[in-house]
Amino acid sequence: MYKIRYIGDPVLRRETRPIETFDAQLEKTINNMIVTMHREEGIGLAAPQVGYSIKLCVVDISSIYENEGPRAFINPLIVESWGEETLEEGCLSIPDVRDDVSRPEGIRLQYTDENGQGHEERFDGWMARVLQHEIDHLNGILFVDYLPPFKRRIWQQKGLLPENY
Ligand SMILES: [Zn+2]
Repeated sequence: MYKIRYIGDPVLRRETRPIETFDAQLEKTINNMIVTMHREEGIGLAAPQVGYSIKLCVVDISSIYENEGPRAFINPLIVESWGEETLEEGCLSIPDVRDDVSRPEGIRLQYTDENGQGHEERFDGWMARVLQHEIDHLNGILFVDYLPPFKRRIWQQKGLLPENY
């Protein structure tokens, strides 16, 4: 299991590198990330959140939709998006901060699975939302970056968001 990196940690702002080797080490990293995500009661976790600057995230929305399970997405790339939806987001790296964020409601995603197999798939609903949040992590972007300044100030005044992050 891994320790969560929190806002202010420079690894969260770093551009991640693509994964080129699909070996037992990668499988172990994926499994450890899934265990960590479950322990922290998250529905998604990106590699930088546990200190790895690589293009990997895991998602498990089975707490919302029973028939879903944990999935790994390697080198994910959003190739198309549509619609708009406002939903409340949170992040394991920014404890106790939750706020509304508008994002496209659907996406078409290219990604590689843990066996090195490439896929293209459409997602909507919570899968699309969580994937967009996690893919932002792979590009050094945090959901609070989307908040208007007055909302950021409110969270800063509560002491839940650092002054510089
Ligand atoms: Zn997050």
